[in-house]
Amino acid sequence: MDRTRPAGPYYTPLKEDGTPARFLKAKPLTDGARCAGCGLCSAVCPMGSISRSDFTQVTGVCIKCQACIRACPAGAKYFDDPDFLSHVTMLERTCTARKDNLFLEV
Ligand code: SF4
Ligand code: SF4
Repeated sequence: MDRTRPAGPYYTPLKEDGTPARFLKAKPLTDGARCAGCGLCSAVCPMGSISRSDFTQVTGVCIKCQACIRACPAGAKYFDDPDFLSHVTMLERTCTARKDNLFLEV
């Protein structure tokens, strides 16, 4: 590893239009009409951020891992933050194509 090379810029997530996506505080919402109160979302959250007394409330830090959304059997969890959704769409459009392996000499 060449430690003399300057560090690159800190990663900035982008929206579909290439501008910075700002979604640090985005948290999943809950469709109350669908939620059956099973508590799975709270159980799988790696941050322990979904309240155990009210599963609609994200009381801690959300790292946008989607674990609660995947785990919800009712499809009740979702994000509505426009910057976050735009970033997800950008990733799906640009990072789902299969790539060849790339080997770099260090
Ligand atoms: S996993 Fe889904 S149905 Fe179960 S408590 Fe959470 S939001 Fe409600
Ligand atoms: S997206 Fe991940 S970190 Fe955020 S509330 Fe859901 S499980 Fe927790």
